[in-house]
Amino acid sequence: MPRYNEGVTRGQFSFLLLLASTSARAGASADGLQELHGTLTQVKGQPPALALKDGSTVRLAADEPTTSVLNDPRLNGFPLEVSGHYSAGVFRVEPMHKRGLFVEKDGKKLYVTYWCDVCAIRTYTPGKCVCCQQETALDPREKLDN
Ligand SMILES: [Zn+2]
Repeated sequence: MPRYNEGVTRGQFSFLLLLASTSARAGASADGLQELHGTLTQVKGQPPALALKDGSTVRLAADEPTTSVLNDPRLNGFPLEVSGHYSAGVFRVEPMHKRGLFVEKDGKKLYVTYWCDVCAIRTYTPGKCVCCQQETALDPREKLDN
């Protein structure tokens, strides 16, 4: 029954093709999340960038709160770990609520936080304290709970 066999073979082949294309699509959208390690580089008038160990520099894009952290001059030159994905020539950092940005210090991965010691209020973006209007202090921490 050569014809029958041929039919089965063709059927199996297209099934395999379907499997292959399905898993390829899943792989691309599963999260595609990448982790980059480098040094935060701020140049006036330019978006923040990360200088990688291989000598290349990648521009960073992020949501508004994360961008305000990336533009905090106190973090210029800090080793950073960012997670996100490449998109249109920039590296798009995960949105603030997904916590895609850490500073590296003494081999530890620290969350970027800001602290007002007058009011004991913690925030996650630089600027004035909502309570006393005093400038908050940069306070990288291992954990997010106070
Ligand atoms: Zn305050």
